[in-house]
Amino acid sequence: MTTQEVSAASQQMAHIPGASIALVKKAAKAPPWRHRKNKAAATATVTGSGEKVQVTVTKPKIKTQKPKNQKKADREDPEAAAAATTGAEVSSPRQVVQVTETTESKVLAVSKVVERRPFIRDEITVPSAESGGVPEPTTAYLSCAQLAPSRLVRPRRILIVMDLNGTLLHRPNKRRPSHFVTRPYARVFMDYLLTNFAVAVWSSARPENVHGLVASLLTPAQRQRCVVVWGRDRFGLSRADYDSRVQVYKRLARVWSDRAVMSAHPDARRGGRWDQSNTVLVDDSAEKARSEPHNLLQIPEYAGPVGELPFVLPQVHDYINELAYQADISRYIRENPFRLDAGYTL
Ligand SMILES: [Mg+2]
Repeated sequence: MTTQEVSAASQQMAHIPGASIALVKKAAKAPPWRHRKNKAAATATVTGSGEKVQVTVTKPKIKTQKPKNQKKADREDPEAAAAATTGAEVSSPRQVVQVTETTESKVLAVSKVVERRPFIRDEITVPSAESGGVPEPTTAYLSCAQLAPSRLVRPRRILIVMDLNGTLLHRPNKRRPSHFVTRPYARVFMDYLLTNFAVAVWSSARPENVHGLVASLLTPAQRQRCVVVWGRDRFGLSRADYDSRVQVYKRLARVWSDRAVMSAHPDARRGGRWDQSNTVLVDDSAEKARSEPHNLLQIPEYAGPVGELPFVLPQVHDYINELAYQADISRYIRENPFRLDAGYTL
């Protein structure tokens, strides 16, 4: 036991009634397995008022490694990890003092400090070149979106690429990726979209989690009406990026070139195609829409009922109805991006 450790133990014992710092005895050498388990622990035994008091001082460890259960949670759902913060959350470890009062025949637990390990997250990283790197909009895309919008006489069936987490639902516990809270009006909103438009669900969560969330959010009949339900496996990520907290990009070209999605176009047989004129991506993240920024209907992130603005999804519903009238969605969004109206009422 070092001088500093003895001093720390003495300070702790000063708060124990009836204990005097009469004797600080060096702890017996710990057996090897105990030594490996907690190298930083030091134990001292003090007598005071006829009682023995055993104090264990555990030195704080500066951990660079994440707790096992948190690593597991990040592996299970990198999207949840990526959605939470943009920087690592660092908590200072607390010194844990465990005090046991000892009498001749019995041991009384005076206090027990149970420390919950902090949920430390990795920083979001840039995807590797193997995963496609960071996309930019093409010149052709920007030129087309730059033109003036025009309104059709009748609405048409458009393609809606729908995000889940932060848009339709919120997962409060990152360790339980399948547990979620639904955004107000989410179910009726999705029912309306699935009835009137082509809807593709695309989340960056793992596919098994995505299918679980969709099964809870939608009825089996509604699920059948989804054009596709995609998860993390549809981003073209490398194996390492798939398991990492990497920024993902929803490149709409991936959606437009998919056979199942293409066949959902109302004029597919006559050469009709989905493109920037008839597609909207509904998502709470602007970065994910980096390759087609003017096709993004950016919705405020849903982080649970506290702080949620009223009637968010009903306003998104109205905006999508207007998009259905637009000859080119990217031109309209560029000029009239979605904005919430604080005075909106149903
Ligand atoms: Mg999201």
